[in-house]
Amino acid sequence: MEKTFRNYDHSDITAAVREHYRKMRQNQTLGYVQSMQKKYLTFDKPMPLWEAMEHLNSLIDVSDPDLDLPNVQHLIQSAEAIRGDGRPDWMQLTGLIHDLGKVMFLWGSDEDGTSQAEQWGMVGDVFVVGCALPDTCVYPEFNTLNPDMHNSSYNTTLGIYEKGCGLDKLNLAWGHDEYLYQVLSNHKENRLPEEAMTMIRYHSFYPWHTGGSYTDLLNKKDQAYLETIRDFNRYDLYTKSQKIYELEDVRAYYQPIAEKYLGSGPIYW
Ligand code: FE
Ligand code: FE
Repeated sequence: MEKTFRNYDHSDITAAVREHYRKMRQNQTLGYVQSMQKKYLTFDKPMPLWEAMEHLNSLIDVSDPDLDLPNVQHLIQSAEAIRGDGRPDWMQLTGLIHDLGKVMFLWGSDEDGTSQAEQWGMVGDVFVVGCALPDTCVYPEFNTLNPDMHNSSYNTTLGIYEKGCGLDKLNLAWGHDEYLYQVLSNHKENRLPEEAMTMIRYHSFYPWHTGGSYTDLLNKKDQAYLETIRDFNRYDLYTKSQKIYELEDVRAYYQPIAEKYLGSGPIYW
């Protein structure tokens, strides 16, 4: 039988995944997202790329119904699949680092959902805050739990946004995508192409890239974003397996690529 991915209805998907999404929907409001931007976008914690990778050896993503290995294994599996398909070096590197924003658990707390135990502010499919939640969210029955959905300024199709404003103007639920995007945008030695930054920023935005929602908020540029994301998404999703790698074994290959695009100094988190 062929393996299926993202099946949330299957009986062996633990209640933990569902519970994760309930908390995420309940707590991720516009106000929460703004407070997390303030907490995390300080760029004052230097840490080399490989040290960040090593920290993901001790984090298992509770929102992922497909993989129960440390997150660094998923990163290496994605990168190796991109490499195996002969795709460009910058895309291989993007596969290797795309979830690195999860290192925020090092500075996280249970209260704000950015710890080992509470990951609702860090992982999982994201949605737009400040406008109505669409039915394309996973577990849409939780949408009504979000306090912003009972606020008339936020619960309409456009909410606080202008029609056709484009993806880059939206506030998404806080998580590892936006965190790494902002950290790398602030990183002076960053030479990754724009497509890589798009893959990093929007890969968890399933209600948009897979659900087809938010059409009133999109602009022309977002069509190109969609193609970029779909290209990347296959590697993020369909490469998950029980194959184990050693970070040290792949480092010799990826380190020069990392230095080419991100320099050799520390990254400021
Ligand atoms: Fe991710
Ligand atoms: Fe991923």
